[in-house]
Amino acid sequence: MATGLVWHELYAWHHPGQNYALMVPAGLTVQPADYIESPESKRRIKSLLDVSGLSAQLMHVEPRPATEDEILRVHTREYLDRIQSLSDDKGGEAGLYAPFGPGGYEIAALAAGGGITLADAVLDGTVANGYALTRPPGHHAIADQGMGGCIFCNSAITGRHLLEARGLGRIAFVDWDVHHGNGTEAAFWTDSRALTISIHQDGVFPPDRGRVSQAGEGEGEGYNINVPLPAGSGVGAYEAAFDRVIVPSLKAYRPDMIVVPSGLDADIFDPMGHQMMTSEGYRSLAAKLMGVAEEVCGGRIIMLHEGGYSAATVPYIGLAIIEELSGIRTGISDPFLEGAAGYAGQDLQPHQDAMISEAETLVEGLK
Ligand code: ZN
Repeated sequence: MATGLVWHELYAWHHPGQNYALMVPAGLTVQPADYIESPESKRRIKSLLDVSGLSAQLMHVEPRPATEDEILRVHTREYLDRIQSLSDDKGGEAGLYAPFGPGGYEIAALAAGGGITLADAVLDGTVANGYALTRPPGHHAIADQGMGGCIFCNSAITGRHLLEARGLGRIAFVDWDVHHGNGTEAAFWTDSRALTISIHQDGVFPPDRGRVSQAGEGEGEGYNINVPLPAGSGVGAYEAAFDRVIVPSLKAYRPDMIVVPSGLDADIFDPMGHQMMTSEGYRSLAAKLMGVAEEVCGGRIIMLHEGGYSAATVPYIGLAIIEELSGIRTGISDPFLEGAAGYAGQDLQPHQDAMISEAETLVEGLK
């Protein structure tokens, strides 16, 4: 069975407006430049998938928009109405660093719906697994506020759909974006039906979230796992964290499906993070997740695109991951890999090892 790929041209038409530099408003002392979350890095992934010939061997999954009811499983009515009304006008700001243009509501709903459509395609046996190359991203958005370029929390909306419309008993999220997956975490903070795991750079965004001690509350206590790796962590640290914390957690929890909010900004060349991951590093993590998915949930795994801002390098990471999902090698080599893999500190360092040991204690309580 083929791997599914969700893509829609409108994902590249989401537009935050011109009056920004990186992610702050431009003004008399800040010369305007592009907003950091732009179509280019996503479109180039699609382009490389096409040029490599991989797209033709994947199954295109046409996304539908998430309905109001589906969005309201995660977001408040007041927030949804505010986004809709700004979108109908000239666009606006969804909360904290999350600007959008006219039609932003419809495109964000299509991104959330991309996750739902892909999840359904896997459950219905149309595709084996899949990657949703959606935009805008979602994993920072909380019930009543957009954040960090995210309007609706695509992963959480997809997760609620799996639990509430498709009858799955439990699901797991593994968020490997360099920033903390606070929106997904918040949606399931008191809910043991979802194991939310986020591996990220310690203390970047959002502020004060993503610590090991923040493990959920009430029914959800113990079902939120944060692995805040120190800045400068490379492939060795990521692999150790997967081997010692993330894979054992998934084996203990035994979800019915694994959903990966897939940020590619742990890339060594990414301007918004300071980790040292490579395309082969991400390939290795994808293989580990596929292995555990095979063992606990019949190989059911989907990935929903999040961050990743180094437009030149990010397509090779996306290609490596989707090659791994599909089991197809295109023969395209990553021209940046040799340099990236040669940076000092790619192997596990003692302070990273200590942090991973701290997170390991969370695995014991899982059942
Ligand atoms: Zn990110």
